[in-house]
Amino acid sequence: MNAEDLPKNVTIFEVGPRDGLQNESEFIPTDKKIEFINKLTDAGCRRIEVTSFVHPKWVPQMKDAKEVFSRINKKEGVVYNALIPNIRGLELAIDAGLKEVVTIMSSSESHNKKNINMSVDESLREIEEINKKAATFGVKVRSYIATSFGCPIEGYIDPEKVADIGAALESYGSYEISLGDTTGMANPMSAYSIPKLVRSKLKKSSLAVHYHRFNGMELANNLASLQAGITIFDGAAGGLGGCPYAPGATGNTATEIMVEMFERMGISTGIDIEKIKDCGSFAKSLCTLCHI
Ligand code: MG
Repeated sequence: MNAEDLPKNVTIFEVGPRDGLQNESEFIPTDKKIEFINKLTDAGCRRIEVTSFVHPKWVPQMKDAKEVFSRINKKEGVVYNALIPNIRGLELAIDAGLKEVVTIMSSSESHNKKNINMSVDESLREIEEINKKAATFGVKVRSYIATSFGCPIEGYIDPEKVADIGAALESYGSYEISLGDTTGMANPMSAYSIPKLVRSKLKKSSLAVHYHRFNGMELANNLASLQAGITIFDGAAGGLGGCPYAPGATGNTATEIMVEMFERMGISTGIDIEKIKDCGSFAKSLCTLCHI
């Protein structure tokens, strides 16, 4: 590949404190979560998904969302955001003082039903309402499309459907769309073609990719998406993560490995390699689910 064809800088969107930790069965002490986020900030991460404002009955691990957000060291220029499953989550996030939230839905009917108990159309309507309300508070909305590269229940997902959902989310006001490979089903061909197709349907929203681990293929997938013109990459320090409603779901792309890959290629991430490696080790020390 030609250096002139590639960007000089990329952005890493760190999801470890939320996507990485949310499925841990043992409650991780609030102080440890805060320490983890502060380490990520110190390593140079500029966009961090710190928690989720979801009912504690569904995700007890995130019951300390408000406290985590209020107590982390907030560095100027760093965006701290949180996942919200619905309008109620948005209200809690606004009340806690967040300026940016993240929505989630699947392109697969079956996975969406299992994950958030809504049809795809119901989710789209909910996210439209979330965007309307968020806009009145000056809160920005980023939106995940899970199972963008295949569904563990339905198998193949038509990329045109993913692109249509992306275009709908953009029309509601989501400023960024992130294509989630929820169970590590992407391969370098789809990791090239699907983001390229989705991006061709977007007018102004930026597009990110969110790959889950599959024996190292996630790095090849991130690289293929880079070649397709993507410059925003989701990762979790330590490769943490998984999904309780997606059988076989593995962790996210390990941020520290992705950062090292890009930096060795001469592409700047703005993140300190040694410090992000420390974050990865720290994340793994919190985690019993990850299988690295
Ligand atoms: Mg993930």
